Amino acid sequence: MTIRTRFAPSPTGYLHVGGARTALFSWLYARKHGGQFILRIEDTDLERSTQESVNAILEGMAWLGLDYDEGPFYQTQRFDRYKEIIAQLLEQGDAYYCYCSKEELDALREQQRANKEKPRYNGKCRHAPAVKAGVLPVIRFKNPIEGSVVVDDAIKGNVEFQNSELDDLIIARPDGTPTYNLTVVVDDLDMGLTHVIRGDDHLNNSPRQINIFKALGADVPVFAHLPMILGDDGARLSKRHGAVSVMSYRDDGFLPEALLNYLVRLGWSHGDQEIFSIDEMIALFDITDVNKSASAFNSDKLLWLNQHYIKTSSAEHIAHHLSWHMGKLGIDPANGPSLSEVVELQQERAKTLVEMANNSQFFYREVTEYDEKAARKNLTPASAEILEDMYQRLSSLPEWQAEAIHSHIKKCSVAREIGMGKVAQPIRVAITGNTMSPPLDVTLELLGSERTLAAIRSATIWINDQK
Ligand code: GLU
Repeated sequence: MTIRTRFAPSPTGYLHVGGARTALFSWLYARKHGGQFILRIEDTDLERSTQESVNAILEGMAWLGLDYDEGPFYQTQRFDRYKEIIAQLLEQGDAYYCYCSKEELDALREQQRANKEKPRYNGKCRHAPAVKAGVLPVIRFKNPIEGSVVVDDAIKGNVEFQNSELDDLIIARPDGTPTYNLTVVVDDLDMGLTHVIRGDDHLNNSPRQINIFKALGADVPVFAHLPMILGDDGARLSKRHGAVSVMSYRDDGFLPEALLNYLVRLGWSHGDQEIFSIDEMIALFDITDVNKSASAFNSDKLLWLNQHYIKTSSAEHIAHHLSWHMGKLGIDPANGPSLSEVVELQQERAKTLVEMANNSQFFYREVTEYDEKAARKNLTPASAEILEDMYQRLSSLPEWQAEAIHSHIKKCSVAREIGMGKVAQPIRVAITGNTMSPPLDVTLELLGSERTLAAIRSATIWINDQK
């Protein structure tokens, strides 16, 4: 049997990290078994679904590298098929028209509440449809009355629901449009899905869906309901815990593999291993190893993972992602040294790509302002002399490379009987505007002689202007 899994988001917002974890687990399961992963956009709620949100989902999936073998399928393009199945259910006596008005249903609910009963439809039209002229009926599924449904969940084990607890759910609205539980079953069936992996907020829908599968004479897929993700305060992860949209992690300078590694550990583990390459995730992941209980989101750990991936990934790979951040700063990395070489210098000193981009701007554009504190300390009249001295030394270098640059910084410090830092720091402020950079010699080599000398000259002029 070929494993077929799916991710079926509703496009009513951005791609949430919880959704991304569902997508990841479904994707991993398919990839592990050489199966197929399908993307389905559940856009039947016409009021809440937007194209913008569809785009955000596709963008998020692409950024995370969660590629799909089929889709995206759109439920709004499948209305004819849903109608066909609804007609079939009516025809075989597994569905019926219901004319009960909102007022009647409200009154029923009120009465049930007063009797301390669980509010549910009483099946009035199931027995004798009270046809009302001029009233458009809904269509309800005839849920079995007796017995129980067992959701044989790959994560939670057997979860049993009494049919008496499930009322006859509406499968088509008065305007004929199908509802969620119907469309999901038709799609999961038509798309040949073997495994339905989704958030456990859908667990209560599963017995209803299983009953529809059975009414259609179909095999029921394996269900796996993933435990919730909680914020650090123990409440369900939401906007108030900070960033929850996948793309906001990109914007904040995270690498997709850091987020994936982070997400895979939310509810799944393999011994006490924390770092998983994508290949390892695929090899080691199993849906039956997912925890039953909720897992908590921990931003510090995500940051730690990001730093790990920044340190250990290839410079080219990071440069590819960094280039997007440089673009956001209005920098075209073509106007300066190769971004991969910049990354090599910065890899050890950044926790996020935003930090790396900010600290690498000087490679691509002239410093126009100096940090006040840095300038007060390092761009003094005394340092103007040092800068001038270094200008002379560096401009006469036959070859612009780190070793020679280093040796001149040293010579200058010896000649002036000052520490090397006293020579290096004014140059650092001159080129970066601040006091932080990778080792100065390699930084200057990469920056190039022209930009270095121009920056030293500008800083000297600036110091003289302050007098
Ligand atoms: N569209 C549903 C949601 O976004 C998911 C449905 C499913 O996975 O069965 O919550």
